[in-house]
Amino acid sequence: MPSPPRVVVLAGGVGGSKFTLGVRGALAARGVADTAAQLTVVVNTGDDLWLSGVRLQPDVDSIVYALAGVNDTVRGWGRTGDTERAGHELQEWGAGWPWFTLGDLDLGTHLARTGWLREGFSPTEVIERMSHRWPLGARLLPMTDAEVDTTVTVRDAACGQQRDLHFQEWWTRHRATLEPVRFTNPGVEAAVPAPGVLDAIAAADVVLLAPSNPVVSIGPILAVPGIRDALRATRAPVVGVSGIIGGQVVRGMADVCLRAIGVETSAAAVAGLYGARAGAGLLDAWLIAEEDAHLAPEVDGLGIRPLVTPLWMTDAATSAALGEAALAAAGV
Ligand code: GDP
Ligand code: CA
Repeated sequence: MPSPPRVVVLAGGVGGSKFTLGVRGALAARGVADTAAQLTVVVNTGDDLWLSGVRLQPDVDSIVYALAGVNDTVRGWGRTGDTERAGHELQEWGAGWPWFTLGDLDLGTHLARTGWLREGFSPTEVIERMSHRWPLGARLLPMTDAEVDTTVTVRDAACGQQRDLHFQEWWTRHRATLEPVRFTNPGVEAAVPAPGVLDAIAAADVVLLAPSNPVVSIGPILAVPGIRDALRATRAPVVGVSGIIGGQVVRGMADVCLRAIGVETSAAAVAGLYGARAGAGLLDAWLIAEEDAHLAPEVDGLGIRPLVTPLWMTDAATSAALGEAALAAAGV
């Protein structure tokens, strides 16, 4: 049997975790026993924030919970069976954000993480610790150990002035209804990739871009100096998966984010945003849905190899099939 491929996935939260589960499933279906030795996930930390004295890492937690099988698949986020007693108590105190739900089990996670950060462990080390509780079958790395949370600049309709919001406030409180002007990660220019990120990309046999939000999930990862160059330099094929199916986002508000940066909500336009590695961009191949098969010539015209395949991840089997399609697209 040929040695199993070393896979790196760049991922955000919900879409990222579904896809990561799929890649892990595909490796397992190929008979790989120790998937954690083969699969590294570089996770967006732009969504992270401090709230009531604790550090939240929404995308990291989404992936940890999903890989551990303890995520709430009905709600789409958080822990299954969670309660909100502590969160209600915080509201009674007038602490935190009244519109931001904090589950009790989730708070346990945040307390553990914050305690370790306060003891001096880096975010990378904290995530490594968090990976010991459940057999995740993957190695998780934050994109950087620096705090470079995503800021959304919006135009206030009332006064026409621009103001900055933390990504979580824009996304959760305002449900992305305030028209964004731009997304930034203040301080990212001075950030460096977390230890292991560049090595993993350099040593990979395939790098996969999950169908995560291209602007606020994959975008911050690519904004960390060095990561884009590493993707362009690796000898591994870089394969992306469209989160846009039939001209629509599967869930979430990626269309609002794309509009803000002047990109159409189309699988081909997102391929254009990432660009072809043959040119100045990142992608060798791009997986698009059957509903978007007519866009294949447009993707091809960008210098990116299009592959038409089912992109809906509705259960473990469809996710694993997509993971396998992405590996096969890279020829590994
Ligand atoms: P978040 O960080 O929790 O917002 O999640 P991500 O950024 O990782 O993923 C959100 C993106 O995943 C959305 O833009 C969706 O269109 C995409 N997505 C969610 N489910 C699916 C699916 O089943 N198939 C595909 N192709 N994309 C999906
Ligand atoms: Ca996210």
